[in-house]
Amino acid sequence: MDADVAVIGLGAMGSMTIWQLAKRGVSVLGFEQFGIGNDRSASGGESRLFRTAYMEGKQYVPMLQAAKKLWRQLEEETGNSLLTLNGGLMIGDPNTKAIQNILESIDTFQLEHEILQGEKATKRYPQFKLFSDEVMILDKNAGFIRPELAVISAAYQAETLGAEIHRFTKVEDIVPDNDGVTIAANGKSYRVNKVIVTTGAWTARLLPKMEKEVEARRLVLTWFPAKNIAAFQPKNFPIFARMRNDFRLTGAPTLDGTMVKASNTKDPNRVPDPSQLNRDVSLEEIKEVSAAVKELMPGLVPDPVRASVYMDGYTTDDHSMIGEIPGMHNTFLVAGFSGHGFKMAPVIGAIVADLIIDGKTKHDITHLDLNRNLVY
Ligand SMILES: Cc1cc2nc3c(=O)[nH]c(=O)nc-3n(C[C@H](O)[C@H](O)[C@H](O)COP(=O)(O)OP(=O)(O)OC[C@H]3O[C@@H](n4cnc5c(N)ncnc54)[C@H](O)[C@@H]3O)c2cc1C
Repeated sequence: MDADVAVIGLGAMGSMTIWQLAKRGVSVLGFEQFGIGNDRSASGGESRLFRTAYMEGKQYVPMLQAAKKLWRQLEEETGNSLLTLNGGLMIGDPNTKAIQNILESIDTFQLEHEILQGEKATKRYPQFKLFSDEVMILDKNAGFIRPELAVISAAYQAETLGAEIHRFTKVEDIVPDNDGVTIAANGKSYRVNKVIVTTGAWTARLLPKMEKEVEARRLVLTWFPAKNIAAFQPKNFPIFARMRNDFRLTGAPTLDGTMVKASNTKDPNRVPDPSQLNRDVSLEEIKEVSAAVKELMPGLVPDPVRASVYMDGYTTDDHSMIGEIPGMHNTFLVAGFSGHGFKMAPVIGAIVADLIIDGKTKHDITHLDLNRNLVY
């Protein structure tokens, strides 16, 4: 055996998983096809939003609270600042599912928040125009994460704790048998007891049988200059997610002092082959997000100064999949985070370590069970 466990793909989930396994003394190999902290998949683009009052469902709240503690642990272990909790504004029609889920999360778990409406809301946050059918909910346990530094911190910390990482090493095949699993990568083979596949949008390339379950989708991030950048500094401007029928505008305060992130992340398009991801941003895409910014964020200059393209793995119900792959003994899939996984990455790493070491976890992950909607 080359190691007890191998983790394939060291983006958000893989880096946190290898950190958690190494921390618990497991001998572990990691494989990443690009560099550590690369921006070729889902973990690039300067910031990721952290939210606790959760529009995707209140079942995530305990996991997110646990994730927050683990972000702080990783910061302590590495000395890097990764998560800034400057608050988060969720804006939308209270009759929508997203806002109802946020309110349910708040009620069930007594989350710190404020509800702002009408003039009171726009006086406090003049950076936004608000329609009469919308509310602003300020989630006090929200903010932003630095994704590249987070991945790098976890992977390097794992190495410090004894993990062996193979960079620029693409895994081409995984072959389980009764006694373990063989991995083929860069013309070499490696033998381990268990394999964890954290390949995100690339999952179906490595595991074609998962093509229907985890689909690659393309997301465009855009940044805009401000008329008065001071109004968009983290202390004055929370992260935000604004839902309306035809778009979902999400963003973060200025992190470099010159531009503000505001992107349309609604209904990302399918990417048939992740290795052929179109990283050009079309004029149509720019016009669409510019129009939304012009209408809703009067403090921004509506011509983007930066735009870049990423992709994530999506499932049919937008909840990820964690579990042993049917027919592949000792091979576990942890993928399909559907555009909202980064914030929870450290707790996912801890959950996977629990499952590998103890065969069970104290966290409720029923909604993430790999077998819930598999269609073979
Ligand atoms: C534009 C965008 C904005 C987002 N915004 C947010 C947000 O604000 N908040 C939030 O919580 N989440 C957000 N998400 C979602 C979040 O970033 C993802 O859900 C999360 O990063 C997925 O992690 P992952 O480990 O599954 O995939 P990734 O982070 O993409 O990692 C997969 C890794 O596997 C590697 N790999 C693939 N195949 C192989 C192979 N065969 N051999 C070796 N290595 C391989 C890849 O190179 C990659 O490094 C966003 C996603 C995108 C794309």
